[in-house]
Amino acid sequence: MTLPVLPGHPHFAYRDNALFAEDVRVSELAATYGTPLFIYSKTAMLAALASYQRGFEGRDAQICYAMKANSSLAVLQVFARAGCGFDIVSGGELERVQAAGGDLKKVIFSGVGKTRAEMRQALAAGIGCFNVESEAELDVLSAVAAGMKLRAPVSIRVNPNVDPKTHPYISTGLKGNKFGVAHEDALRIYQHAASLEGLKVVGIDCHIGSQITEVTPYLDAMDRVLDLVAAIEAAGIPLAHIDFGGGLGINYNDDDMPPEADALWRQLLAKLDARGYGDRKLMVEPGRSLVGNAGICITEVLYLKPGEQKNFCIIDAAMNDLPRPAMYQAFHAIVPVERAASESAGVVYDVVGPVCESGDWIGRDRALHVAAGDQLAVMSAGAYCMSMASNYNTRGRAAELLVEGDLARLIRARESAADTFRGELLMP
Ligand SMILES: *Cc1c(COP(=O)(O)O)cnc(C)c1O
Repeated sequence: MTLPVLPGHPHFAYRDNALFAEDVRVSELAATYGTPLFIYSKTAMLAALASYQRGFEGRDAQICYAMKANSSLAVLQVFARAGCGFDIVSGGELERVQAAGGDLKKVIFSGVGKTRAEMRQALAAGIGCFNVESEAELDVLSAVAAGMKLRAPVSIRVNPNVDPKTHPYISTGLKGNKFGVAHEDALRIYQHAASLEGLKVVGIDCHIGSQITEVTPYLDAMDRVLDLVAAIEAAGIPLAHIDFGGGLGINYNDDDMPPEADALWRQLLAKLDARGYGDRKLMVEPGRSLVGNAGICITEVLYLKPGEQKNFCIIDAAMNDLPRPAMYQAFHAIVPVERAASESAGVVYDVVGPVCESGDWIGRDRALHVAAGDQLAVMSAGAYCMSMASNYNTRGRAAELLVEGDLARLIRARESAADTFRGELLMP
């Protein structure tokens, strides 16, 4: 019997009582490659992308994968070969796109703090668009481009001031956070941009936050952005594309089921059509929703430590591998790699890593049926895990595998301690 671990995600499922990634038994991968180990399903990535592609069928649309969610080169290759562009936030990410063979014309460059060097690098590479986040950045970009005898294609990120109802650290479209320009300043700033010799205005964009599980904030943001499109075009500045950002959530848990991308876009496109902008070129920048549920992290139970107030299950993965719980109090489902045939209730544990921080927990109050030496799978670990991983406590970063059918390919070797201090210099 095949039983998906999370609803709607058939690519990680139990067959009898063994967890499989597509057609590969996870315990065998852990035995070969060790733990902690990230395993990604290529089929799950392409299925997530297909939901967007279905949503945009018949439209002039460009999907730019927000690669900060998971920027491993082989993951970028999967999306590049499927026709995606990339939303980048640094010169380093641009180099990754180049290393993965991505189409530079489909690259858009977001972020509040682009340096002059990064601007030059991106202009020389011929990227598709700079998503500019402040008036000061417009002036600098214009000067840098003019100095290269170029005109930088720009879109200005506007802040629609809608509440995406998500965690404050991943909400970005409200007044009082550092992203974008205020709605009421946008027209004036567009007029300023249009007057600068080093710029060519090509679009408008917004991105209201991340892990959004409701449709309403998107509909509200679309209304606010389209109001601006009308005002900016009435001022004689045509906008070739409208970019609605990313932010669509995934189910980490059974109780916050976000809409599928195609269902979300059915509603958004109806509004776009109703307001007369249905034939406009659309861009989106999804990150988490393309990769989050396409990855898991396998870890081994090192020790069980019963206590008076809490029982601890100490695993070999930690906050340096899986930073989301420590950063955002985020929830990841944690399940056994091989289940016991008889399901007893289990014991309630806090699942913690070996790092010397009380913030180093991966799951709290989890009922588990485990013993030392067992393996656990931390689910929904495809987004904002490896790309945020660090070497804290001189822990080498985990290995990564990409599975397709019954084939598992190593896409990142486990980091050794020597890797972690390469580049450091000893005193004479
Ligand atoms: C992070 C980010 C995204 C992607 O967000 P997700 O929640 O992962 O979809 C898109 N656009 C911008 C500008 C971002 O900063």
